[in-house]
Amino acid sequence: MLIDVPVVSLPRVVIVGGGFAGIQLVKHLHGKFQVVLIDKTNFHTFQPLLYQVATAGIEPDSIVFPLRKLFKGYRHFHFRMATATGIKRNEKTLCTSIGDIRYDYLVIAAGSDTNYFGMEKLMANSMPMKSVSEALDLRSCILQNFEKALITSDPGERERLMTYVIAGGGPTGVELAGALAELKRHVLPKDYPELDFRQMEIHLVEGAPRVLAAMDKISSEKSQGFLEKLGVYVWTNMRVTDYDGKTVTANGEKRFETSTLIWAAGVSGNTLPGLDPKNARRDGRIPVDEFCRVKETDSIFAVGDIAYMEEQAWPSGHPMVAQVAIQMGKLAAENIIRSAQKKTMKAFAYKNKGSMATIGRNKAVAEIKNWKSQGFIAWMIWMFVHLMSIVGFRNRVVVLFNWVISYLNYDRGMRLIIRPFRSRKEQKEHGSNQ
Ligand SMILES: Cc1cc2nc3c(=O)[nH]c(=O)nc-3n(C[C@H](O)[C@H](O)[C@H](O)COP(=O)(O)OP(=O)(O)OC[C@H]3O[C@@H](n4cnc5c(N)ncnc54)[C@H](O)[C@@H]3O)c2cc1C
Repeated sequence: MLIDVPVVSLPRVVIVGGGFAGIQLVKHLHGKFQVVLIDKTNFHTFQPLLYQVATAGIEPDSIVFPLRKLFKGYRHFHFRMATATGIKRNEKTLCTSIGDIRYDYLVIAAGSDTNYFGMEKLMANSMPMKSVSEALDLRSCILQNFEKALITSDPGERERLMTYVIAGGGPTGVELAGALAELKRHVLPKDYPELDFRQMEIHLVEGAPRVLAAMDKISSEKSQGFLEKLGVYVWTNMRVTDYDGKTVTANGEKRFETSTLIWAAGVSGNTLPGLDPKNARRDGRIPVDEFCRVKETDSIFAVGDIAYMEEQAWPSGHPMVAQVAIQMGKLAAENIIRSAQKKTMKAFAYKNKGSMATIGRNKAVAEIKNWKSQGFIAWMIWMFVHLMSIVGFRNRVVVLFNWVISYLNYDRGMRLIIRPFRSRKEQKEHGSNQ
């Protein structure tokens, strides 16, 4: 079955994924091609603030934006909510959950997902945080833990419920650990006065010798210092190797008793079957040439997290961050236009605008070219950059409003268990989580 879209005289570009890269493509191809955007959700997600949804700081609605609304009024643009399932290269056709669609150009911008490196037990028992629904599950899980801790008569069980282990000391792990520590300090003791919050422990476990390993050493040291000041236990040179739902094992010997392991230790590309298997990578990323074109194809491009490109300054590929996705999305659009006009395509050159991470109130680290900052100024920059990057004016206003209120009254307003979380084991016993 073919997906029904009007046949027009313009060539057709099919894009898989309305993330940071996908929305740039639609904007830059608009008017020059018929553009069909396929996404399994009907919204764009601003992933950098998922951790604030998970820790009850902001509502999920303010970090997502409906894709149909984003491209309202675009001529020759069609959105279809569907999951892409494969590519028939010889027929220039994309297969999806609602049917097939032919393309003149195909762009894969499907991003990445949590990578458990084949550790099945870890996957079954830990909490990921890569989508809005996973962030909401985590929020419910955290709050349910305290409700359970309040009623259990088993002290060991209570300690497990109040202990959090986060695997992965990159920006996601660091930001989540900081936000949990602030919940412990300012919010939860007011909600649960009968619990002794000295029992609540937050452990951040990182395999590299330092947290935020992709940043400068000074940013790593400073952020570790900020976390420790907030009461987070930071473990470096330590890899989580197993978790059975009760005990986390790290480096094969260290044990943490916890009911919640949050997995922020790796991602892999959401690749699609149908590409040349000899180019397949273990991390699911798709190797592309300097034009963002999938190797050994002439009309398939891959951009953003899913694309693996070696550039002279980035011999092991680019970091999986929003700026790379945005810049690749723009360049791929330009190269598709050039290709259609039979012009030479342009090579990608990543302009690193800097990196930053926040640890908590007045505490962040930022690196912009050679300038490095830690503390309040970095925190202000972090807030400004993130606020301006959120899609939608209303969303920016709502997030700013929440931040100001939280700053003034040390509160987190979204402490709601709207959709109770059930572990995979509970779902098996009692039916799905929905
Ligand atoms: C918790 C977290 C925090 C982060 N913090 C930062 C940060 O502070 N700064 C930063 O620069 N980066 C950050 N990142 C990384 C950044 O969000 C990604 O690099 C960026 O989203 C990649 O953009 P993309 O367009 O490649 O993919 P995405 O934005 O992930 O978009 C992919 C889209 O494809 C869709 N999709 C996937 N598979 C299919 C399929 N088979 N069929 C149809 N649709 C599909 C998805 O629904 C999604 O809409 C963070 C990521 C996470 C998870």
